[in-house]
Parts: sequence; structure tokens; C-alpha cells
Amino acid sequence: MRTAFQRDRDRIIHSRAFRRLQHKTQVLAAFEGDHFRSRMIHSLEVAQMARGVATALHLNPDLAEAVALAHDLGHPPFGHMGEERLNHLMTGHGGFRHNAQGARIVDVLEDRYGHGFGLNLTLATRCSLLKGKIPEGFPLSDDLLDEPRVRRRHRLPIEALIVDRCDKIAYLCHDLDDGMRAGMVRRDEARELTLWQQARDRTGTDDPSRVLSEMISILIHDLVAETDQALARADADAPPRAEQGSACAAATAEMLEFLRANFYRAERVMVAMRQGCDRIEATFDALRAEPAGLPERHRERLEHEPLERILCDYIAGMTDRFLLQQSLPPSSGPR
Ligand code: MG
Repeated sequence: MRTAFQRDRDRIIHSRAFRRLQHKTQVLAAFEGDHFRSRMIHSLEVAQMARGVATALHLNPDLAEAVALAHDLGHPPFGHMGEERLNHLMTGHGGFRHNAQGARIVDVLEDRYGHGFGLNLTLATRCSLLKGKIPEGFPLSDDLLDEPRVRRRHRLPIEALIVDRCDKIAYLCHDLDDGMRAGMVRRDEARELTLWQQARDRTGTDDPSRVLSEMISILIHDLVAETDQALARADADAPPRAEQGSACAAATAEMLEFLRANFYRAERVMVAMRQGCDRIEATFDALRAEPAGLPERHRERLEHEPLERILCDYIAGMTDRFLLQQSLPPSSGPR
């Protein structure tokens, strides 16, 4: 009844790692307010966009959806700062990166049936999770590890590139929305953005909900039109890319800069992130000193895997709130 990619999608949705995205930070800590986006909501929003774009381009919407739902599975608690801290703690032990961790989760860590193949997803979906840099020595499945980098990139399906673009469209527009809701991004400043002005001109209103919806619509239509042309131009030597046109690329770059200055690096966000990162380090150090404190299924791995990787997998899998609930020995206060 299902295609291979529909089966991938269903296995991802039924995984524990996917359920945990509900309590992982997008920008504002997931527990700060019920209407801010968690990574699960973000993943669902990206999936819906990627499915729409893939359908419009006569590509494979099921593959796009599966990749989108899985694209953030490997994120540790406390977002990109949490990722950097874990990578720092894993120096000399194979490092940490959320994309690579996502592949590790679906291949190794989600081993519900104990058959050693994790969620047993298709190669297309697994390769699609491996965008970006992979730290030297990061433990991936042999078939992904053996693949030379270049060939791996060429084997990335166009659906994976579409998910990447939709990820950006989703987080830019939704972070702007969350930032304004949180009272951290000023609406009069957001109104200066090129894309906001375009959307306002097209809708004839300054109402943020309507404008934000139109901004997404502008970017998605541009992505479809540009990628359609790229697909027509592509051949075996030059695989197609999914891209925004130059005007939309400039407008999104402006938005990213704006959000960096007004939201991502705002003191309220930074304070929560720094506390979270210190908790990551304190928990890592405490469990390294006392591995008996690990849950049994992680302790069992100690016989054949390095302690640091087990700690990294365990902590990366934690939700923000689970991490903060960990009781630590009195000596391990914040740095
Ligand atoms: Mg994302």
C-alpha cells in the first residue's frame, strides 16, 4: 500500500527521536511559551512546503516529505550553540554535527527491533541527511562513510536540495513571526525589510499574519520557478540545483542579517542558550566521571564503544527540559 519513501516517512514519524523534537528549541526555548515553534513544528512546516514544491515540479513529494521530517532529528538541546558545545567536548573523539547525528540516529540509535539497521530507511533518504560538513572521525554507517565526498554530493537527490531551501524559508519567516510575538523584534523595524514591503504591496495590508504568509508565498513561488529552469538546463554532468532567484536570495540574506542582529543574538536568547550549553558540559563531565549514572541501554554499549561517543549520543538526544532536569553532583556548577 505504500511506496518506499512513504514507508521512510512513516518510520520517521513513529521514531522516538521525532517525538523528542516537540521539546527541542528552535530559537526560543520550547518551554518559554506554547505558541513558539519547537523543532517538531518547524519540521512539519518544512515538510509541508517541500511536499508542495516537489509536487509542483513533478518530483517525488514523498521523498521530500521524508527528508524534511528527518532533517532536524540530530539537533541537540539548545540549538546551534548546543551543537557547538558538544562538538567542542568531542574534540579528538570524532566531533559532533547535527546533520551527521541525524544519519546516525536513523541508522544506529533508533534500533527498536534490535536488528542493527536502525529505521532501515532508503539510501536516498539517508544520503539526504548528510548535507554539509562531517567531522573527521565521526562514526557513520560503513556504506555512508566509504562513499567519497564528491560522489555523495552528486547522489543527493534534488528533493534534498529543495528541503534545504524550504528549511531556510520556513525558519526565516517563522523566526520573524516568533520574534515579534515574543516582543523581541520590533514591528516597525521588520516593516523596513524588502520582503515585507513586497508582501505588503501585494496584499495591500500591513497585518503581520497576512504579510508573513505572503512572504512565504513569494519565496516558494520563486523557488519553484528557478528550480524548474534549473531542471530544464541540467544534464548528467551538471546536476540541477534548487535555488532562489537573485532578488529573493538578496531579500533572504537581508532577513537573516536582521534576525541575527535582533533575535538570534538577543540577550534573552543568549542567556538561555548559555545556561543550556553549560548544562550540556556539566552533564557530560559528570557522566564521564561516573558512567554508572547512564541509563542501562547506554551503559550496555560501554563494552564495545568509546565512552565519549556514548555520552554525546545520550546528551544530543535529550530535549531541552530533560537536560535541565538532570541532577548533577554539587561540584559541577556553571563555568
Ligand atoms: Mg531546520
